[in-house]
Amino acid sequence: MHEASIAASLIEIVIDTAEKNKAEKVTKVFVKIGRLAAIEIDSLEFAYDAIKEEYEIIKDSEIIIEDVPITGKCQKCGVTDTYEEMFFACGACGAFEVELLTGEELTITEIEVD
Ligand SMILES: [Zn+2]
Repeated sequence: MHEASIAASLIEIVIDTAEKNKAEKVTKVFVKIGRLAAIEIDSLEFAYDAIKEEYEIIKDSEIIIEDVPITGKCQKCGVTDTYEEMFFACGACGAFEVELLTGEELTITEIEVD
């Protein structure tokens, strides 16, 4: 259960941040996940909801996941495009020198508290 351990480490960060900011309750947690992070969003939500029950501070919080597409910029012709997979050729000129711009994210972008 890859997603369960990811949910557990996200929760650790959320609780830590909330405590440092003297928050009493976390209401929303915004997370960005790139397609290349190979995380099942449904499983992560499920794992988060299961683990949060154990902690008063995040018990009523909701995890909001933003699915970040894979985008890359061609080093040859400069075109920026969205891709379905990791290994890609530029959609415009066919060169394989495409620099990855997004798609590897696994970050908490915002924590909403009460
Ligand atoms: Zn190109």
